[in-house]
Amino acid sequence: MIDSFGRKVTYVRVSVTDRCDLRCVYCMAEDMTFLPKADILTLEELERLCAAFVRKGVRKIRLTGGEPLVRRNVMGLIARLGRLVAAGELHELTLTTNGTLLAEHAEGLAAAGIRRVNVSLDTLDPARFARVTRWGKLDRVIDGIMAAKAAGLAVKINTVALKGVNEDEYDDLVAWCGNHGFDLCLIETMPMGEVHADRTEQYLPLSLVRSRLGRRWTLTDSDWTTGGPARYAAIAETGRRIGFITPMTHNFCESCNRVRVTCTGTLYPCLGQDSAVDLRAPLRSSASDHLLDAAIDAAIGAKPKGHDFIIDRGRRPAVARHMSVTGG
Ligand code: SAM
Ligand code: SF4
Repeated sequence: MIDSFGRKVTYVRVSVTDRCDLRCVYCMAEDMTFLPKADILTLEELERLCAAFVRKGVRKIRLTGGEPLVRRNVMGLIARLGRLVAAGELHELTLTTNGTLLAEHAEGLAAAGIRRVNVSLDTLDPARFARVTRWGKLDRVIDGIMAAKAAGLAVKINTVALKGVNEDEYDDLVAWCGNHGFDLCLIETMPMGEVHADRTEQYLPLSLVRSRLGRRWTLTDSDWTTGGPARYAAIAETGRRIGFITPMTHNFCESCNRVRVTCTGTLYPCLGQDSAVDLRAPLRSSASDHLLDAAIDAAIGAKPKGHDFIIDRGRRPAVARHMSVTGG
């Protein structure tokens, strides 16, 4: 699949649920209204959708949410998609999770053919963790991360940089990830969805974070890439990598290779734009995939050139939907 700007789309992020067992302050409002069940694709529909993308040349699928592991029987879907990896049709199946249910599922994920997981963790302080997630228990997440490691999964920690919240912890996170053999990725907050907080108060540019990290760690830019938007540096003292995802200070759209599908089957060709194509109607209106295939082709053809996130006092979010809708 090649879009009208010549970018090859080989990566799909699929949200399997809009629900979550946490309410991170930058991601969701506390009183979220979740979608009715009938609107959400069934596991069979999700599988059909993923298979259609793989047929069209997608080689990497990331399951996300909401929290993907709260979806009932999601492990069945993962096992079935894992067969596409075993058959060599899909190069990688992976997962972004908050880690609360990883302790239960880590071995199952490894058995299904998942080789690495991204775990979101913004702080190593239990009280702070409870505040950022509104009620989460840090211990459970740490247990989950260690279970993933024990199951042989490579772990990458994703940390959203939050001004005045976890600003003083990046050195500790680098050291902690170094000790456990995890890569770390720092992410700027993006203005997505109403969260009843002032985003100018949350936003911390990573250019600043990076120069502060440079006081303690020797960071050397690296060409290493996971095919995603992160720019990596090697950390000499730990031997691990640190990634910086900077949608606000650096626009990474020119090399974007991905599209996102929500749990209702809406395909968003760009994370930061409202344009979308519905795949649920073609999925549901025919048992054959020709309508679905045509809708996917139309969406790829309409992939926008890029996004334009601006965080400013009083400004509405760049897109109305929350990150938990498109899955980050
Ligand atoms: N629940 C899972 C998790 O937290 O890993 C998967 C979904 S979550 C929406 C995916 C990622 O998006 C997380 O790393 C989260 O920190 C990030 N995220 C959510 N809202 C964001 C925002 N407004 N700006 C930047 N990152 C955000
Ligand atoms: Fe849930 Fe992940 Fe959003 Fe936090 S970032 S509220 S864990 S979906």
